[in-house]
Amino acid sequence: MVRIMTDSQRVDSSSGLNLFFHGCGSGGHLSLGSAAATVEQQGTPLLLIDCGPGTLASFQQRYQCLPPALFISHAHMDHIADLEILTVRARLAGVAPIPLFVPLSIITTLHQRLATYPGTMAEGDHNFWQAFQLLPVTDGFIWQQRQWQIHATRHHAPGSSYALHLAGTLFYSGDTRPIPEVMAHCLKGGERLFHDCGLHANPSHTGLEDLAREYPETLRQQLVLYHYANEQDGEQLRQAGYQVARPGDCFALGASQA
Ligand SMILES: [Zn+2]
Repeated sequence: MVRIMTDSQRVDSSSGLNLFFHGCGSGGHLSLGSAAATVEQQGTPLLLIDCGPGTLASFQQRYQCLPPALFISHAHMDHIADLEILTVRARLAGVAPIPLFVPLSIITTLHQRLATYPGTMAEGDHNFWQAFQLLPVTDGFIWQQRQWQIHATRHHAPGSSYALHLAGTLFYSGDTRPIPEVMAHCLKGGERLFHDCGLHANPSHTGLEDLAREYPETLRQQLVLYHYANEQDGEQLRQAGYQVARPGDCFALGASQA
């Protein structure tokens, strides 16, 4: 049992950054939306993390614009499918190319899954990548005067899924089994921690029973869980003492979050 120590709805922080959740669901159960979130600064979107089915509609509803930049954690469809819509909307809106940060090792898969469809736009004269500025990422990247890092996680094949990390501010696990070695060695202190977790563990994702075995209590107290099957499962995670994100939640990031 861990105790909730912070108010998930507070959106003022020393970093000035918040994380807004468009969806918190797991791939096979989309009643909570595709897992995706936007790092925003005083209501202005900085970086969209993942873009699965429904993410773009949620983004445009909140910000009334297209994403200014995206980071893709991995190439499962519940994290990339809306890029097909975005490439067309960006072209029509005249805002292309949109910076798209993609871990180097998943670019081939991303290309094969989304960019090879013949005749991307019915109007012609368009291919998938024209709407994006592809920015391959090895260890990290600079965006909006900040140094973002990525860390390989445990989700299907090695080197196919990555966490996003802004030192002292944000750690977003992406889809993963527990990664205690990453959390122990890479966190700088002060990060708000968002972690994949469903009610039951499986070979692709973290489950409630994993947390107590893999992470110390001080770290578990700081976790905000997302990527679970449905609202009932989310409630059970909450009853176990954890913070749990809901679609539409906005979390303050950085050291003064509590
Ligand atoms: Zn996945």
